[in-house]
Parts: sequence; structure tokens; C-alpha cells
Amino acid sequence: MVDVIVIGSGLAGLTGANYLAKAGYKVTLVEHHYQLGGLATSFKRPNGHIFDVSLHGFPYGMIKSCRKYWGKEIADAIHQLKDVRFINPEFELQTTFDKEDFTRILIEKFGVPADNVHRFFGHLASMNYYDDDKRTTRELFESFFPGRTDVWRLLLEPIAYANGSTLDEPAITYGIVFSNFMSRGVYIFQGGTDLLIQKMTQILKDNGVQIIRNHRVEKILTSCGNDKKPAVCGVRIKNVRNGEVSEIPCRAVLSNANIRNTVEELLEPGNVPADFLRQSQETRLNSSSCQVYMGIRKGESIPHIGDLIFTSAAPKFDSGELTDLHTTSRTYSVYYPETRPQWPFPHYAIVTSINQKFENWEKLSDEQYQAEKQRLIEESFAGLEKFIPDIREKVDWVEAATPRTVKRYTTHMAGTSFGTKFEGLDISVRLPEIVSGLYHAGSVGIIMSGWLGTINYGVITANKIALSLPRN
Ligand SMILES: Cc1cc2nc3c(=O)[nH]c(=O)nc-3n(C[C@H](O)[C@H](O)[C@H](O)COP(=O)(O)OP(=O)(O)OC[C@H]3O[C@@H](n4cnc5c(N)ncnc54)[C@H](O)[C@@H]3O)c2cc1C
Repeated sequence: MVDVIVIGSGLAGLTGANYLAKAGYKVTLVEHHYQLGGLATSFKRPNGHIFDVSLHGFPYGMIKSCRKYWGKEIADAIHQLKDVRFINPEFELQTTFDKEDFTRILIEKFGVPADNVHRFFGHLASMNYYDDDKRTTRELFESFFPGRTDVWRLLLEPIAYANGSTLDEPAITYGIVFSNFMSRGVYIFQGGTDLLIQKMTQILKDNGVQIIRNHRVEKILTSCGNDKKPAVCGVRIKNVRNGEVSEIPCRAVLSNANIRNTVEELLEPGNVPADFLRQSQETRLNSSSCQVYMGIRKGESIPHIGDLIFTSAAPKFDSGELTDLHTTSRTYSVYYPETRPQWPFPHYAIVTSINQKFENWEKLSDEQYQAEKQRLIEESFAGLEKFIPDIREKVDWVEAATPRTVKRYTTHMAGTSFGTKFEGLDISVRLPEIVSGLYHAGSVGIIMSGWLGTINYGVITANKIALSLPRN
């Protein structure tokens, strides 16, 4: 019998599966898509184009986590993006996006007293997940930079653009993520997501993980445990290509599906106590995103305009504006040939990211949907023309993805790209108390989201499983 079934091959699922396999457990990984990686994925298009979906930047901590849990070769390919730019009505600046440079910018450009800046960074460094700090990010900013909403924008916009976090969420979620980035700057995996996932897949196979693609877990099966609590006994899977249904018995399940999908869809309703179910249903999902993918024609090049460019025409930072259907906030990730030195020709691509709400896209008719996608493409071009006036002539592939795309690809409720808000963490952690042998790892609460957060959460959860499941 399989010891552990991992549902989903996002970074938390992959890392959890690898950890358990290395610890000697018999692990089967089930993924509904034909590709592994979840949101850490890439796709190819005609004329030699390749695009990364979520390779925009992660903190330095990835090097340590990857070295420890995936090996030196993966860790050694992580390299820094040194040119991060901000362009908005309040300020324009260029930074290496680390503590030293932000300290300089805050003091010299924003005129913040040095003492405030040092105290702010000192406070962030001391923030601890286990402290019961109820302050919001707004309150945190107000105490260090009273009334300086331009400073708040500099500090929050680069985080919020990705995960949709607002000023009114727990300061701890912002503080931990921001200080992770501030420790040494922003990094990506050189070689691209395709190479990373290829390497991870090989490591999983070498460690004996059985990988089942194109199969969706429809239900987590349970039997009654000794203490009358439901206990995991297997999963029911469906082949997404031919509809065939089968069951795999197991001793434990690590679900990398969204925590709300896990509780509200994968478990039989009778297995979930009413109050826990309600808590899950009341958990807020994070926002989703739109992206515009542009491929530069083979043989063409573009000038260096920065690696990551945060642009917005909003007069002030405003979380509502940031996720509005007609937001002016757009972040350009520029991929130069150094991103994929192994590619058969020097490859350039630009990906525009726009934070969006699923509900604004869900209700569109097919015609409106196509028109809105076209608008996004047009606005992305218009924004880029300020840096590269002849960008339209250089691009020979362009397409847009939306929250609907994210939902279809991952099956996550509302196409959430960073799981749930902070309260989802409690549901995720308490899951094994509700159903013996059922664990969750994946994006929840910002801290456990993003590339670094999910890899680390995969390890934390896998370690819990290893501690509770005797080896056969
Ligand atoms: C557009 C975009 C840009 C991003 N940019 C960044 C970035 O620059 N830096 C960063 O750190 N993070 C970024 N993120 C977030 C980051 O990609 C995610 O937080 C992280 O990859 C999520 O990992 P995960 O383990 O939670 O699983 P996911 O990647 O969400 O994957 C879950 C997997 O489970 C599978 N699955 C779900 N249900 C089932 C089922 N029932 N049966 C079988 N399989 C199932 C799905 O198909 C999927 O493969 C971005 C996200 C998006 C959408």
C-alpha cells in the first residue's frame, strides 16, 4: 500500500513528496494536469517562444531551502535580479530591492529620518509568526512613517501587486514577506521554470516517487478511525482524458489543492464538522491575476529597460484600484537571454502582470471576455511603448491569461494565485485534527505562499506526516 498520496504538484506538493520519499516512505503524486509544477510552470508557443507564469522574483531564502531540500545544482542556478524600477505619479526610482538600498532611498529620496528607517527594519526583523500581534499593516506603517502614504506605497506596492495584500491585513503577513525580500533582494531561477521542474521531476523519480499525471483526485476516502474520527484510507481519482475512475488506498494524504477545495470539495460533507466547514467557507480567498505574454521575434533584441518594472498611474496607493478591472497598475517582468542561456537562440520575452478579482472576469460573456483580453494586450503595449517605442514591431507572439485561466489550470477556487488570506492557515494546520492522516501544504496566508513560502510549507507538513506515520 502507498504510504502517502500527494494531491497536486505545486511547489509545496513536489517538495513534500520529495521530503517523504527521501525519508523512506512510499509516495504517489497525483496531478490533474499533464505538466508538473502547478503555478510554477511555463508554456511554449510557435517560433521558439517560451513563457514563465510565476517566475518574477522570490527572496534569497530560496537558495538555502533549495540546497537543503532539492540539492546544490538547483540552488546554484538561482541568481539575483538587480534592476527593479518603480514608475508612478509619486516617484520614479531604480533599486536592487534590498535593505541597504531601501535604507538609502528612504533617507535620501524620501527624507525619512534615519532613525525611523533603522527602527522600522529592526522591528521587521524581530517580527515573529508566533507573536500574537494584532496590528494591521496600515497601523505598522502609521507608527513608523505617519501620514507618508508615498512611503507606504514604496513598501507595500511591490508585495501587493503580486498577492493582492492590503493595508488592512495583519502586519505580520506583510512584515515577514517583505523582510524576506529585504534580506538580499529579488532572485529567479536561471534556466527557466521548465528546467527547474524537469530537474525536480528527475529527483523525485530517483527517490522513488510514483507520478500520476492527467488524473484529478475527486474525493479523499475515509473510514472510521479508532476514536470515531474519520481517518484517511485512500483517494478516488479520475483520468481527465478518458474519464476512467479508480481508487488508490493509502495511509495518509498531503493535499496541495487549495485548502478550501480540500475541505469543501475533496472531503465528503459528512466528514467535516459543521463549525469547521463554516470556518472554511468564511475564509477569504486571495485575488487572482491577469498576465500578458509577449515574445520578441527570433533575431530581434530589446534594450535593457530593467528586470522588474512596477508601473501605475494611480495618484496614490490604493488596494481597490490595484485589483480593479481597469487598474492602471502593471508590472513588467523582462526576460533577457541570460534567463535561459541554454535556449537555442537569444530569447527575449516580456510578461505583464496585473492583479485581478475572479468575480470581474467570471461574469463576462465570451465576446466581452475576448474584448477585455484584447484591451489588456493593448494597454500593455501602450505602457511598454514609453520604454521601447517600436515594441509592436518586435513582438511576434502575444496572448493574455486571466483569472479564468488560473482556475482552469489549477482548479483552485476563484483562480486564486496566492491561496487564502491569513485565516486559511488555521484551517490548514488543524486539518489532521478533523480527519486523521489528512494534511495540507500550499499557498495560505501569504507567509506560506509564493515560491519560498510553499517550498518551506511543503517541508513543514511533510515533517509532521513523518513524525506521525510509522514507517512500514
Ligand atoms: C501569475 C502569477 C505570478 C506569480 N508570481 C510569483 C512570483 O514572482 N514569486 C513568487 O514567489 N510567487 C509567485 N506566484 C505565486 C506562486 O506561484 C504560488 O504561490 C506557488 O507556486 C503555489 O504553490 P502551491 O504549492 O500552493 O501549489 P500550486 O502551484 O497552486 O499548485 C497546486 C497543484 O495542485 C493541482 N491540483 C489541485 N487540485 C487537484 C486535484 N483535485 N487533483 C489533482 N491535482 C490537483 C493543480 O493542478 C496544481 O498543479 C505567482 C502566482 C501567479 C498566479
